[in-house]
Amino acid sequence: MEPTLPLPAGTTLLITGARILLPDADWHDPPVADIAIGGDSILAVAPRFAPAEGPPPETLDARGLLVLPGFVNAHYHSHDVLAKGTLEEVPLEQWRLYALPAQYPPRSREEVRARTLLGALECLRSGMTTVQDMLTLYPFDPAHLDTVIEAYESLGIRVVFALQYGDRKGLDTVPFWKEVFPPEFHGQLSSAAEPERNFDLLGHFETTCLKAPPRPRLHWALGPSAPERCTPPLMARTMDLARRYGIPVFSHLYESKGMALQARHELAQYGGSIIRRLHAEGALGPEMNFAHSVWLAPDEVALLAETGAGVVLNLQGNLKMKCGIPPIREMMRAGVRIALGCDNCSCSDAQNMFVAMKLFSLLATVSDVMKGPPPAIPALKAATEGGAAAMGLGQLVGRIAPGFKADLTFVDLADPSFVPLNSAARQLVNIEAGRAVRHVMVDGRFVLRDRRVTTVDEAAVFAEVAEVMPGFRQDFAAITARIARLQPWLDKAQHMMDTAEIDIDRLPRLR
Ligand SMILES: [Zn+2]
Repeated sequence: MEPTLPLPAGTTLLITGARILLPDADWHDPPVADIAIGGDSILAVAPRFAPAEGPPPETLDARGLLVLPGFVNAHYHSHDVLAKGTLEEVPLEQWRLYALPAQYPPRSREEVRARTLLGALECLRSGMTTVQDMLTLYPFDPAHLDTVIEAYESLGIRVVFALQYGDRKGLDTVPFWKEVFPPEFHGQLSSAAEPERNFDLLGHFETTCLKAPPRPRLHWALGPSAPERCTPPLMARTMDLARRYGIPVFSHLYESKGMALQARHELAQYGGSIIRRLHAEGALGPEMNFAHSVWLAPDEVALLAETGAGVVLNLQGNLKMKCGIPPIREMMRAGVRIALGCDNCSCSDAQNMFVAMKLFSLLATVSDVMKGPPPAIPALKAATEGGAAAMGLGQLVGRIAPGFKADLTFVDLADPSFVPLNSAARQLVNIEAGRAVRHVMVDGRFVLRDRRVTTVDEAAVFAEVAEVMPGFRQDFAAITARIARLQPWLDKAQHMMDTAEIDIDRLPRLR
């Protein structure tokens, strides 16, 4: 960091006196510095700026605050925000029947808007400035897509938006379901994305989104639901679009033992490995991101590192859905790009990057009990730089440096979490849970200022949620009753998955 500098021309906002997590500084004891912002970007950072001639810019006295790069929630779905807090003790394969859109009747535009804003507000309040929404709109309705984009735009959070899709039926991609369930129930079993009938979703997405004029804070991505739910031609089309438009891809990989078993069962020609299948199809590369990656085998971890494909860990959901603990230390050792996400509201319950970082830090140490590097700073890097790199925005967000977007989170150090301040990094990761987030800035604009949302009326959003909840609850109750009738067979298939032999372990063994 330069010493005293002249205030850059074009400075519109000067932030003074905060401690700052600068890329190369000590994150345990961050230095005090000033940040000059011009419009939506960081112009310069210095211990102090010499006063410029002419009228001074707007100044924020940020003494007593810690400024960090805004968090990047690198895996999230806004379709089940209203189902938060509804479920426990439900393993992943069964949870999909409660939470995912294919089980529900079509939703109203009002509900889509309310849930999008509510989820994004929770993200914002926990210090996130970017969220990757991998949204299932099923059956697809273009008006709902417009509603979602408008909702994000009105709140002012940055979004990397992908539609979730697949062209294989869920029933064909979950081990044992087809053999266990009587045929009359097959129509009631679905997964995260079901094939759209007579509609080219990707073609529509390319025409209306990828080819549309750019909009601020809106970035596109592709969301093939999971490789086993996408045929090789669909994956090939996905990678072609990603490479032609220079956008990232997000997919679910090996979240559960069931997903690993599915690969062992149907991919004998690739040694039972979905990663080897994707490698053979040319689908592994820096644009690829795999959410979860819990049941990756060691040779698959190595292949991710070799090809530059990354992972997005969603540890809250992995524990709640009884999926297990990913090989975090092994990924770190191999140099795999790591980002963090909070996944669905009904499987993680919290859109909170502090929780995600704490779980990363704690679970890294038990994912391999041999002594390894301290995980607090890697947790913070995964929540910021790692997420930005996964989005393909590594030169735009995730760091506090000249030329980067002014996407910043301000944390109040006058909070019990940070008194006494022994290590900013460890206290952010292991103590703070979001209470101390005071301001959040996206694109140089305060979207949260002194804990108040500046762009939308939060109380009005809660009222919109209350309006749609009776309808949602009615549908959720009907779905719950339907699942209750399926329960004996669901349990039987689950037991077969739990007790099946497999070559790796990511869960305590069933005895
Ligand atoms: Zn997910």
